[in-house]
Amino acid sequence: MVWYSPFPIIAFCFGLIFGSFYNVCIYRLPRDESIVKPRSFCPGCGKTIPWYENIPLFSYLYLRGKCSTCGTTISFRYFFVEFITGLVFGFGVFHYGLSIKTAEFIILASLMIILFFTDLDERILPDKITLWFIPVGLIFAFFSMERNLKESILVAILGAGGLALIAWIYFKVKKIEGMGMGDIKMLALMGAFLGIKAFLALLIAALLGTIVGLFLIYVLKKGKRYEIPFGCFLSIGTLVAYIYGNQILTWYVQRYIVH
Ligand SMILES: [Zn+2]
Repeated sequence: MVWYSPFPIIAFCFGLIFGSFYNVCIYRLPRDESIVKPRSFCPGCGKTIPWYENIPLFSYLYLRGKCSTCGTTISFRYFFVEFITGLVFGFGVFHYGLSIKTAEFIILASLMIILFFTDLDERILPDKITLWFIPVGLIFAFFSMERNLKESILVAILGAGGLALIAWIYFKVKKIEGMGMGDIKMLALMGAFLGIKAFLALLIAALLGTIVGLFLIYVLKKGKRYEIPFGCFLSIGTLVAYIYGNQILTWYVQRYIVH
């Protein structure tokens, strides 16, 4: 898509609205609350937030991050999630044009944004995202030029099964839970959307997790108990593998296999 096309900008604005909804999902899904009702309210004073104070990005800036009634601080997170969702929508349309792949990317990235933050906040990867969207990934696989349905189903099963086995061995050896069922269901979701590239995503996640983990322990001196949940790294790994998977694999083959 050419740089002066209006579509990425329009998509960005749509993304902001969706991002506002994802904030609701991130807060309510781990608590098993309805994501439709009630309308958003201030956690400080309980006031229902009127629509004109619920406009993505602008309301946060206008209210300077505070509830207009009681002054309770509104987390910068709300602004941030709206903004990155806007970016994801805009990037999707810019990068993939207007196609089925665009829809696939935007849905996948949306799921990853929600999972990233529910795992970071509550250490929960809700089934309503991981399990419920596996069929959606498989439907896209049916239309995909890069992976077929059989591959997606196989990777979803093998990936989740393999990870379950590793988690079980880890548990038997170390007597503590290193990976939860949530991670395993998430890998099945990744398999549905990525096919064979889900393993690349897993590798990127493990690598990133190790680097960040070492950084937290040795540079920030956070201590070994402080952990960023693995689902966060799986989210990033998934998007990197989805967008740059082909380039990474081509580079790897040329660098280490052909020569
Ligand atoms: Zn309030």
